[in-house]
Amino acid sequence: MAGTLYLVSTPIGNLEDITFRAIRILKEVDVIAAEDTRQTLKLLNHFEIKNTLTSFFRHNEDKKGEYIVSLLEEGKNVALVSDAGTPAISDPGEELVKMAIERGITVSPVPGPVAATSALIVSGLTTGRFTFEGFMPMNKRNRRERLEELKNETRTMIFYEAPHKIRYTLKDMYDAWGDRNVSLAREMTKIHEEIIRDKLSNIIEKFEIDSPRGEFVIIVEGNNEVVKENFWEDLSINEHVEYYIGQGLKSMDAMKKVAQDRGVTKREIYNQYVK
Ligand code: SAM
Repeated sequence: MAGTLYLVSTPIGNLEDITFRAIRILKEVDVIAAEDTRQTLKLLNHFEIKNTLTSFFRHNEDKKGEYIVSLLEEGKNVALVSDAGTPAISDPGEELVKMAIERGITVSPVPGPVAATSALIVSGLTTGRFTFEGFMPMNKRNRRERLEELKNETRTMIFYEAPHKIRYTLKDMYDAWGDRNVSLAREMTKIHEEIIRDKLSNIIEKFEIDSPRGEFVIIVEGNNEVVKENFWEDLSINEHVEYYIGQGLKSMDAMKKVAQDRGVTKREIYNQYVK
């Protein structure tokens, strides 16, 4: 019978955040596949876990994935761990999971810390609906496209970012989306844990004086100004025209917009609009 691939979450800072089950599974499996074996060895030593380690990182994913799946097919149980947090969330693992599922292997979660949701819950921003965006693309053009794509996103957005790129990313967000409320979760669960809740512009200014240090998750409020499609359905013609006048359009242009929205001629609106 084939073995099970366990995706084991590990702490994102504070070692007390490991679960009893994670410790047991890490002891019981035949092999632990780790993103960085030296990093994982520190964790195993701390919890006095002795087990076989093998490396599994982004650049050996294909070859190593094949090897790990062959172990599973031989009936061995394997635990996958990343450097911190939950494997397969902006970490290697996604491809291994796909490969294992394709080969009919059982994949089981051993849940625990995730930086994204930890940062979201302390942000003070809306948690009812959110979107996880991971790392922004590095390539300038792809980055610009992603920012544009997210401009009208109404859900709270979660981003990961490397410390040396955080200033650059916040500035890009400000340029693309204007001044939004943001919560920066820094060094969560560690000694220097800090949650900075402020406008993008104030945080950018702050970081011009104090360089950002440590690991960060960026939580950005969604766009509250997105106008709903067919927002005008409950408005009278007059209210609809006045809405656009209120937005700064001249009355003739406002009537033209109203006609476009309603799919009628400008004359019809002109005839019905009472100044
Ligand atoms: N798989 C991990 C998880 O479950 O959260 C994320 C791995 S990703 C390679 C690393 C990113 O997670 C960092 O660049 C940072 O954005 C975020 N991160 C990880 N630990 C953190 C912490 N203690 N405080 C703030 N952000 C953290």
